[in-house]
Amino acid sequence: MLFNFFLFSLVVYNALSNVAVASFNHVLGIMGITNMVAINLNNAPLWAQFLIMLVLADFIQWAVHIMLHRVNWLWQFHKVHHSVREMGFAAHLRFHWLETIIYKSVLYLPLTMIGFGIDDFFVLHAFTVLVGHLNHANVDITYGPLKYIFNNPAMHIWHHAKKMPQSHPYGINFGITLSVWDYIFRTAHIPSSGKDIELGFDEVENYPQGFVGQVFKPFKKNE
Ligand SMILES: [Zn+2]
Ligand SMILES: [Zn+2]
Repeated sequence: MLFNFFLFSLVVYNALSNVAVASFNHVLGIMGITNMVAINLNNAPLWAQFLIMLVLADFIQWAVHIMLHRVNWLWQFHKVHHSVREMGFAAHLRFHWLETIIYKSVLYLPLTMIGFGIDDFFVLHAFTVLVGHLNHANVDITYGPLKYIFNNPAMHIWHHAKKMPQSHPYGINFGITLSVWDYIFRTAHIPSSGKDIELGFDEVENYPQGFVGQVFKPFKKNE
């Protein structure tokens, strides 16, 4: 939590991204492109801007999450998050720092094209962190009929299941904040209450337990 959430994500990454955004826009300026905004939504009501940003960003992240499972070298980094053996809100904060870079880079381009700046991401970030904490909180709740819209603890625990169904060997329930993409694209799977199921992946028992071990593990050649 200290490294991913405070040190890396808030301080280092925000500093880096502001510099990166400024230099990126500078390069575009040299090329004569001063306004990348394709559709400007800044005049829309605030709630509508937030909703559009949430839906768009969440869909992109859902697709990135699938790639983290399907592409082997990306999976090596994502395994850090899947190495949790027991759910608890802090499980949400166990992930490799490279994931922050991957997710944020993929998000930046499409969102700036509709006129959202780096500051707008922060509100969204705060909301999605809250939902993410809940999804990992080891409570068996679904939000009733809203489960078809919002990802929920009862659904996300199955994403962490050690055994995947034969029909979906790469994984199920990839939703971040919204569950709707998994229902649309048929990757939703909640066979029963996930309470007490085994979490992790094959040979999770041998995965490094400590912070340093996990940070370096994805860079090592698979023995
Ligand atoms: Zn995952
Ligand atoms: Zn998770």
